[in-house]
Amino acid sequence: MSDDVRFCSRCGGPMAMRRIDDHVRAVCDRCGFVAYRNPAPAAGVILVESGSVLLVQRKFEPRAGMWTLPAGFVEYDEHVEECAVRETKEETDLDVVLDGLFGAYMAMDDPRVRVVLLLYKCHRVGGELRAGDDASDARFFPLNQTPQEIAFKAHEQALEDLRRR
Ligand SMILES: [Zn+2]
Repeated sequence: MSDDVRFCSRCGGPMAMRRIDDHVRAVCDRCGFVAYRNPAPAAGVILVESGSVLLVQRKFEPRAGMWTLPAGFVEYDEHVEECAVRETKEETDLDVVLDGLFGAYMAMDDPRVRVVLLLYKCHRVGGELRAGDDASDARFFPLNQTPQEIAFKAHEQALEDLRRR
């Protein structure tokens, strides 16, 4: 939340909420620095094999125990497509090659940050399925039998879109 930006990251001065470009933003009263807030980019994959989609069970909060598509936040120095492949490897130990963009989603219900989620179609080229360090389980579900407990609405929406295609 921008209202918890209380001190300027540039000069340490007090921040105040002001309306700029039609948005309420935190602005430094001393040096004029504006703390712009942007959603964080994340990337993940949709891997379907024999009518079943790959999901991972979250090991950590938020939403520990719930299921998501393999996905995670883009590192500052990596391409969004590299992120999708890396996160899949980390969470499921599968090596995948991307087959193009499946869709772009906005996740507004992650308590940490709002997220722009890019999901890619992909296929497996190696690895053996097992849950990685930050997943407690990773497995394929028939498209019409995915778990009720999907961690984020954007992932749920993507699964609905997938069923319709
Ligand atoms: Zn300042």
